[in-house]
Amino acid sequence: DAKAAGGARYSLFEPGMKARMARRAAIESDLRGALMRAELSVAYQPIVALPGRRCVGMEALVRWQHPTLGAVPPQEFVAIAEEVGLIQALGRFVLFEACGAFAAWRHRFGDAAPASMSVNVSRAQLADRQFAGHVQEALRSTGMQASELQLEVTESMAAQDGVVQQALQTLRRMGLSIALDDFGTGYSSLATLHLLPIDVLKIDRSFVMQVETSLHHRVLIEAVILVARSLGMRTVAEGIETEGQAAAVAALNCDKGQGYLYSRPMPQDAATAWLEAHRAVDAV
Ligand code: C2E
Ligand code: MG
Ligand code: MG
Ligand code: MG
Repeated sequence: DAKAAGGARYSLFEPGMKARMARRAAIESDLRGALMRAELSVAYQPIVALPGRRCVGMEALVRWQHPTLGAVPPQEFVAIAEEVGLIQALGRFVLFEACGAFAAWRHRFGDAAPASMSVNVSRAQLADRQFAGHVQEALRSTGMQASELQLEVTESMAAQDGVVQQALQTLRRMGLSIALDDFGTGYSSLATLHLLPIDVLKIDRSFVMQVETSLHHRVLIEAVILVARSLGMRTVAEGIETEGQAAAVAALNCDKGQGYLYSRPMPQDAATAWLEAHRAVDAV
């Protein structure tokens, strides 16, 4: 009867669901002003050359300190920003912040500064006809070279999307490099890797965390690295947490590593202090 049907509908709104919907509504409505209220910031995580710990790059990761919700995970608010059309403004903020931080490190550390800055971008940014212009502007205003800027796109974005691939070609012609993020979790395969306009392959943490304990994962990583190298791509192992994982991926000829073993993502000031402390660490 009607009551039973109503009951079924209301079951959608069990307490957990209600709380999640309220949180989502708060995030959606507060995100718009978050940029102007300076609640957004950018954290930086080192990327090191393997074997060893020499810092060769930094990845910019957006952060949001919400006045009442606290730190909101980027996975949560980036997806919402994409849905409600705020990702272009958010992405532009991250791009300019990251290029500014890179320039500050170059000024302070000279040749010992990280060689490149990686910035995550969403599909809507690449599809935006103004994006390449924003990149030029960020480079020009900070004196950064195009070759020093790397954009990270996810596997699911780059595969089978003509608009994205066209944009990536344009950016590569400008001199930027492109990294395929979270490789192994998405749609592309080793067989179609050569079709993608990318320079760097980032092997997802879910593989790296099992490199020592699972032969299956170790062999997969080995195959990915061999194929990437044969295509002239560099490789980065994401989410390295132990010396054992670092040694294992280095033994498989992975070029670079990133993860909590080296450092968690840090605010710019802390990243500067980290770089200061690590400039002597060349071949540990
Ligand atoms: P991602 O680009 O794959 O970034 C790596 C994520 O793994 C980061 O999470 C980082 O903090 C975390 N991570 C790094 N090393 C380790 C480790 O050793 N162990 C563990 N457990 N985690 C580690 P975060 O900062 O929460 O970012 C999550 C995702 O949000 C990013 O994944 C990226 O897809 C997205 N994102 C972050 N910032 C931006 C941005 O500015 N724009 C866009 N479009 N997406 C962003
Ligand atoms: Mg990334
Ligand atoms: Mg990643
Ligand atoms: Mg990831």
